[in-house]
Amino acid sequence: MLSLKLQLSELQKIKEKDIGQLRQKIEDQSKNSIELNGQLEKLGQKQQELQQLLQEKIQQMEQLRNQKQLLDQQNENNQFEINNLNKQVQSLKDQLSKPKNTKQITDTILQLEKTDKDIQKNLSCTFCNKFIKQPVTIIPCGHSYCFECKKGYNKECFKCGPKLKIEAMYRNELLDDIIAMVKLIEQSINCMKQVTQK
Ligand SMILES: [Zn+2]
Ligand SMILES: [Zn+2]
Repeated sequence: MLSLKLQLSELQKIKEKDIGQLRQKIEDQSKNSIELNGQLEKLGQKQQELQQLLQEKIQQMEQLRNQKQLLDQQNENNQFEINNLNKQVQSLKDQLSKPKNTKQITDTILQLEKTDKDIQKNLSCTFCNKFIKQPVTIIPCGHSYCFECKKGYNKECFKCGPKLKIEAMYRNELLDDIIAMVKLIEQSINCMKQVTQK
C-alpha cells in the first residue's frame, strides 16, 4: 500500500514536470507568433512604401514621355521647314535649267540663304556654335548640344543656367538626319551660286 502511494506521487511529479514543459512550449510559441506578426506588419509597411515609390516613378516616366513628345513635335517642325527649303531648291533648279531672268534667280538664292541661316541657328550647338555633332537634347528645355561638348549640358544647361533643373537628356538621332539634309541643301545652294555667278 505504501509503495503504491509512493509510485502514485512519483507519477504525479512526472506529470507535473510534463505539464510545466508543455506550458513553457506554449509560451514560447505565442512569443514567436507575436514576433512573426510584428515582422509581417513591417513587411506590409515596406510593401506600401515600395508601391508608393513605384507610383511616383510611373508618374515621372509619364511626365518625361509627355516632354519627349513636345520635343519630337519641335523636331517635326524643323523637318517641315527643311522640306520647304528643299522645295525652294527644286524650283530654283528648274528655273536654272531654263534661265530667263537672272535677277529673279539671284533673289531666290538670297532668300534661300536667309532661310538656311535661320535653320542653321536652330541646329547649332549653343556651346561651340557649330553644327551639332551627335546631338544630345535636354528635357525639359529642349536645347541640344554635341555629345562631345559636355560642358554645355553636364550639370546645367549652358543656355538656361542653374535655374533650370535638368530632368533627363537623350541622344537625338532625328537631329542627325535633319543636319545631314541641311548640309546637302547648303551644298546645292553653293553650286547654284557658282552657276549664276559665271
Ligand atoms: Zn558643340
Ligand atoms: Zn536649356
